[in-house]
Formats: sequence, structure tokens, C-alpha cells
Amino acid sequence: MAGKMLIIGAGLTGLSTAFHLEKMGGIDYSVYEKEKRVGGLCRSEYKPCPGLKGKFTFDILGHLLHLKEEYTIGLVRRLLKENLTTDIPRDSWIYSKGVYTRYPFQANTYGLPPKVVKECVFGFISAKYHSLHCKTRPPEGSFYNWILQNFGEGIAKHFMIPYNQKIWTVHPRDLTCGWIKVNPKYVPSPNIQEVVIGALEDQKKHFGYNVRFDYPRRGGIQKLPDAFEAKIKNLELNTNFSRVNIRKKVAYFDGGKIEEKFRFLVSTVPLPELILEIIEDVPEKVKNAALKLKYTSVLSLNLGIKREEMDHGHWVYFPEKEYLFYRVGFPKKFSDEMCPPGTSSVYVEIAYKPEPITQEKEEKFVARAKKNLVKAGILRTEREILVEHRERIAYAYVIYDRNRDRNLKIIQDYLKEKDIYSVGRYGGWKYSTMEEAILEGKEVAEKLVSEL
Ligand SMILES: Cc1cc2nc3c(=O)[nH]c(=O)nc-3n(C[C@H](O)[C@H](O)[C@H](O)COP(=O)(O)OP(=O)(O)OC[C@H]3O[C@@H](n4cnc5c(N)ncnc54)[C@H](O)[C@@H]3O)c2cc1C
Repeated sequence: MAGKMLIIGAGLTGLSTAFHLEKMGGIDYSVYEKEKRVGGLCRSEYKPCPGLKGKFTFDILGHLLHLKEEYTIGLVRRLLKENLTTDIPRDSWIYSKGVYTRYPFQANTYGLPPKVVKECVFGFISAKYHSLHCKTRPPEGSFYNWILQNFGEGIAKHFMIPYNQKIWTVHPRDLTCGWIKVNPKYVPSPNIQEVVIGALEDQKKHFGYNVRFDYPRRGGIQKLPDAFEAKIKNLELNTNFSRVNIRKKVAYFDGGKIEEKFRFLVSTVPLPELILEIIEDVPEKVKNAALKLKYTSVLSLNLGIKREEMDHGHWVYFPEKEYLFYRVGFPKKFSDEMCPPGTSSVYVEIAYKPEPITQEKEEKFVARAKKNLVKAGILRTEREILVEHRERIAYAYVIYDRNRDRNLKIIQDYLKEKDIYSVGRYGGWKYSTMEEAILEGKEVAEKLVSEL
């Protein structure tokens, strides 16, 4: 039976699904996006500044292309053509105890106070010794146990626990290792030799999954979703998916102004919204499962700066509590074209629990973040700030707690029965990258066509 495919959301997952359906030819599909522009989390804002020629390009959040698969490397290069700088070597840092040390912390304690270095190196060696001499395999445990087993108490105390508590908004003991299992390189694991060398000297070796990245020359990360959009015919922007009757297989948009019958529905809407606000007559068991899905929110703050150069590499991690943000980045290091001549810019990521924040609280966050930037020596003074752009990201990181897998399965089993594919970072409720969004779009397009 043929029929229409409805794709909800024009983030990278939805765009890639449509792109691959389009490529197959003759498939009846439509994409609906509630925002006025495509891209989802990969959107950029272009902000002018009075008296300056050109605009600041602000990505909503730092978005670098860490492509591994030949297919995505080729596709992104074909889509962006000459507008792509490839193989930029990562230059990232950590700021703690008043000093900048190289990323990752666990392999680069050189420069920290000797007492801290000693605790980190001894703790690491002791953890390795225990794991070597422990005959039984450690039980499947929390992320906290994983940190202690892999890095020891010093690295846990001085970086892993405070940093992860900040970004996830919960203690690592309340997290599982589910998100690391997807890609063990998300948390680099140096060996003893590397940890010792990195304590004694400025070790320049690269660790982890994101040692090199690609990035658009002009226009920020928005240029990637824009390039997908140019290849897609049936796309409606400014159209909110508000309701779906799964018995009749009819989706309603903008409160019922538009109705579409469908054969398959591909949704990239955050899963709790899909279940609790959009699908009609969801069984209580499935609703309860959706209520248990936990996540964090992020306030993204972009600042245009009255200074030609900033001195801190591509981005810096901040584990310490006294700094509100967990990460700060420098877009001009990704591409010179991100800022008007004679200026630079900074982006700041602040995680918070997903209660709606008041305007007053947001103002406090922003005021504190600016003071923190001066304290860390990133800004010389707040008077350097020329323009700012803020964005609240309601869904930022999915929390891998003990309830996630079980509840996700209840929801996905229910949706599959109804011909609804809930995919992408928030539809699939996972930790994932732009590359995975592109690949998942391809996979789901192929699956849908095979089932027609
Ligand atoms: C802080 C942070 C930093 C990141 N940095 C990187 C990085 O450096 N490199 C990397 O590879 N990945 C990074 N990512 C991950 C990357 O952003 C995502 O994997 C990818 O953008 C997910 O795309 P998506 O299409 O699944 O979701 P989204 O981008 O969220 O797209 C979903 C779309 O659905 C639309 N939508 C939602 N509800 C409705 C509705 N009711 N009706 C119509 N439309 C709707 C939304 O407006 C949106 O456009 C980062 C993520 C975060 C949070």
C-alpha cells in the first residue's frame, strides 16, 4: 500500500529523511516545521552591530562537524561545496584552579598545583591497579562508579564529578553509562603512560572522538541545513504539528487549520511533547513512561566582542561551581568570517534543570556569566561586549538515568505499532551528533520505502 509520509521537524534528522526520500524519487512526502527557518539546533542568527560593516554569525550552540563515516563526509562536502573548511585540528582547554590546561583533563594535568597533580596521577594508577587485580568484573554500575574505576579519585574530584554534575544537572551517581556506550570515545581513556607524561609535560597529543572537525567557511552551521533545504521540494515552515488522531491516521497542524492523512509519520518532536501533548488517547502506561523521561535545558548566550583576537583556542570547559557555565567557545577560531572585521565573539553554555526560567532569573544568569568571563580572563571588561543574542534550549541533553531505557522501550513499542517513527536526538531520546542525525534520516527513509 502506497501513501503519504509525513515528516515533522526540519532539523538535520527530518531534513535528511526528506532528502533521501526525494533522492529515491516518486515518494509522496511533506515536511512540517514550526519555526520560520530550517535547522533545529543547527540554526544560526545573523546579528548586525551599529557602526560595523557586516554581521556577527551566532550559532545557537557550538556546532562542529565531527564526521567519521565516508558516506556523511562525502555528502556534507557535496552539499557545502567550497563553503567548508575541513580537518581543523581541535584546540580545546579546561579552566580550573586558576589555570588553563589542555583537554582532556585526565591526560593533561601539567600546570595544575602539584597537590592536585599528585592526587590525579596516584588516583589513576591506583584505579588501574585495582582493575588489574580485581578478578571479578565490576557490576553494571552508575556513571559515578565508571568514573572511579577508570580514572580514580583525584580526577573524579577535580574534574569528572563537578563537570558532569554541571552539564547534566544531576550527580553522576544518578546516571548510567548508557550515553558512553553509544561511543566510548565520548570520554577519552588515556593509558598510565599518557597520564604520567601529561602530568610532567605539556603533552600535545590528541585524544577522543572529536580531534578534528569540519566547519562552514561562511554563514555558520546554518549553511548545512540550508543546503539540505535547497534539495527538498515539499517543506512547510511556520507550521506547528499540534495533534494526531492515530486511529484515523490524520495529523493536524496549527490547531487544526491544516489536516494531512498519512501512511507513516516520522517525528523529531521531543518525545515527552509527542506523547503528552500531541497524540490523542495515549494509554496511561505510555503516558506514565513519558513523564519519567528526564532532560536538561541550556541557555545559550552569544556575545559580539570589540577585540580582534581571543586567546583561548576553540573552546574551554569549566568544571568549577563558581563559574556558571560549563563551556565557552570562540567562533572566530572556527572561521574568520563569523565576525565583522576588527571584532571577535564568544558563546557561553549554561545548563539548568528544565523548570521554565523567569526573565528575572535569565537576567541573573546572563549578568553572572559576563562577570565570570571577566574573572576567567576571557573578557578584559564587560565594556568589550558590543551585541548579544540569547536562546533558551528547552531540550538539550537527555538524562541517561536508570529509568530511561525501560520507559523509552514502552513508548517506542507503542509508537511502532501505530506507524510512527520517533527519531533524532529528542524523538529517539538520546545523546547523538549531527552525523548520526544525517545517517538516521537516511536509514529511516530506506526503511519506510521498503515497507510501502
Ligand atoms: C549543547 C549542544 C551542543 C551540540 N554540539 C554538537 C556538535 O558540536 N557537533 C555535533 O555533531 N552535534 C552537536 N550537538 C547535537 C546536534 O545538535 C543534534 O544531534 C542534531 O542537531 C539533532 O537534530 P534533530 O533533527 O534530531 O533535532 P532538532 O535539531 O531538535 O530538530 C527538531 C526540529 O523539530 C521541530 N519541531 C519540534 N516540535 C515541532 C512541532 N510540534 N511541529 C513542527 N516542528 C516541530 C523543531 O523546531 C526542530 O526544528 C549538540 C547538541 C547540544 C544540545
